[in-house]
Amino acid sequence: MSDYRFPYRDAAFLLNEVLDFDQKCADAGLEDINAELASAIFEEAGRLGSEVFAPLNAIGDHDGATFGENGVQETAGFADAYRQYVDNGWASLAADEEYGGQNMPRMIAAPVVEIWDSSNLGLSLCPLLTTGAVEALTVHGSEELKNTYLPNMVSGEWTGSMCLTEPGAGSDLAAVTTRAVPEGDHYLVTGQKVFITWGDHQMTDNIIHLVLARLPDAPDGVKGISLLLVPKFLPDEDGQPGKRNDVYCVGIEHKLGINGSPTCSISFGDNGGAVGYLVGEPNNGLMAMFTMMNEARQGVGIQSLGVSERSYQQALAYAKERLQGTRNDGTRIPIIDFPDVRRMLMLMKSATEAMRGLIYVAASESDMKNWAKDPEVASKHAARYALYTPIVKGWISELSQEITSYGIQVHGGMGYVEETGSAQHYRDARILTIYEGTTGIQGLDLAGRKIIADNGHALRDLLDDIQATADEMSTLENLAGMAARLKRASQAGKQACTWLLENAKQDRHAMGAASVNFMMLLGYVCGGWMMGRSALKATRLLEAGGGDEAFLLAKQVTTQFYFDHLLPRAGSCLTAIRSGSDSMMALDAEQF
Ligand SMILES: Cc1cc2nc3c(=O)[nH]c(=O)nc-3n(C[C@H](O)[C@H](O)[C@H](O)COP(=O)(O)OP(=O)(O)OC[C@H]3O[C@@H](n4cnc5c(N)ncnc54)[C@H](O)[C@@H]3O)c2cc1C
Repeated sequence: MSDYRFPYRDAAFLLNEVLDFDQKCADAGLEDINAELASAIFEEAGRLGSEVFAPLNAIGDHDGATFGENGVQETAGFADAYRQYVDNGWASLAADEEYGGQNMPRMIAAPVVEIWDSSNLGLSLCPLLTTGAVEALTVHGSEELKNTYLPNMVSGEWTGSMCLTEPGAGSDLAAVTTRAVPEGDHYLVTGQKVFITWGDHQMTDNIIHLVLARLPDAPDGVKGISLLLVPKFLPDEDGQPGKRNDVYCVGIEHKLGINGSPTCSISFGDNGGAVGYLVGEPNNGLMAMFTMMNEARQGVGIQSLGVSERSYQQALAYAKERLQGTRNDGTRIPIIDFPDVRRMLMLMKSATEAMRGLIYVAASESDMKNWAKDPEVASKHAARYALYTPIVKGWISELSQEITSYGIQVHGGMGYVEETGSAQHYRDARILTIYEGTTGIQGLDLAGRKIIADNGHALRDLLDDIQATADEMSTLENLAGMAARLKRASQAGKQACTWLLENAKQDRHAMGAASVNFMMLLGYVCGGWMMGRSALKATRLLEAGGGDEAFLLAKQVTTQFYFDHLLPRAGSCLTAIRSGSDSMMALDAEQF
């Protein structure tokens, strides 16, 4: 099994050269934050990831979490790794200073999260959920709730969970039936939640559940959902975990992957009601939930990148070692010399770099939204960030299926058996297109909320920026061919947008039929944009005789491969979009 190492050079190149990290920080008045600090942080995180989290990855897979009398027992070694993570301040990296956070930019936090995700997807899910809960509480919680819970959640001393799903309410959260009845200064919560990630464990003294529930007389549907905070232990007068609350894990799932991450069924209020506190306004839980989910959706995009990178590194190491066939001179051939193995490795490498580009540019939009002083500028960045979210979650998680599958294929039969660890990445990745909203739901979010509701403005702005990059690329001889392809791909995005806006009015199935292809199209185009920007920068640095020559030349070639093999997929997505819903919806259910 190969070791994991964070791709420092790619991360630094993207941040410093493509996204002008130093300039952005200076413009925001953050004098102490610069590329040097970022790379020191990545080095430190990389050490904990490679040396502590990564060796536990296969152990978590074999010896996953178990359920017993005291609830969930996590994999041996996880608690110690998590303690090191907390003690070294990683939990609080990007959180608000007011509650003990370090307020680091997302442009630093996202690469650090990639390290945890590559190292150990199962374990890193725990902080992912806590981060989402912290965000929701920071934005929507009362001062009292924030002061009581945030400091311990920000530091990682307490973890958070996200309790949305019920047996009858998955994608359709309007069907939530958990109830919350007011009693004095709090509510009593009763109901069943399923599939709750890290809903119970022994790693920390307390677990803070954020729970979707209905208040008495709440309107039907999504307009009647409220968000409640339900701690496992109620804090005592000193803020320490006190009385056990009436919330219990009643079992965990046996599943395909992420065995190190307990997936819990949780029962609220079997003994009279779990004490909970309202987060935000009554019946307005959907908004608070979206704060939490959008954070988690970006997080799942990073998970998808992380597991893809790990799978690629492992396939690459194997391809260099595995010998098959003999040359005329009698020497054996490492499989990396075969064109088809190259096809797979180049696809893995170029897709992974494109994904990283999209995640970092999304992180930079989040930072610029937070840093902007002018509300109009802030709202432009917010719209761009919101547009990216379903693409980051949907496109990257879908692509991670293909990449981790190739990770197995490069290994041949040794990939299919568990010994090499390649199969674990594939099994672990399979959840990524399902939780935090399936790919279908991401497509609908993109097409409905982000494009139709805004009449395509934010998307056209993005596609104009992409076209401007293509124009810039066309001025350089070696990039002119790629420039023409990027221009065509961005035009495909505009044509798809026009098609959607026109057809969604006439055909009630048009949006649903087109939405996932639409999301995939935009993913390939955004990936091409980030690769194009990278190739532009690499060309200029090479012309100036600066930088790491081998890396920059490889970036140019990897971009060319992306443009040859992945970007053309945008065209077939457009063809599928334009074919509409007819053949999709024509058969009666009985005709299948
Ligand atoms: C390992 C694991 C961890 C999880 N962690 C959590 C957690 O921490 N907290 C939590 O609350 N939940 C969690 N979940 C639940 C997860 O978010 C849901 O499984 C997911 O949202 C899908 O819901 P569902 O399983 O009910 O599928 P369904 O909603 O029944 O969907 C089945 C299929 O129908 C499609 N579909 C459904 N509705 C539509 C629609 N309107 N339009 C188009 N297609 C549609 C879906 O895309 C999917 O392909 C977890 C699940 C798993 C397996």
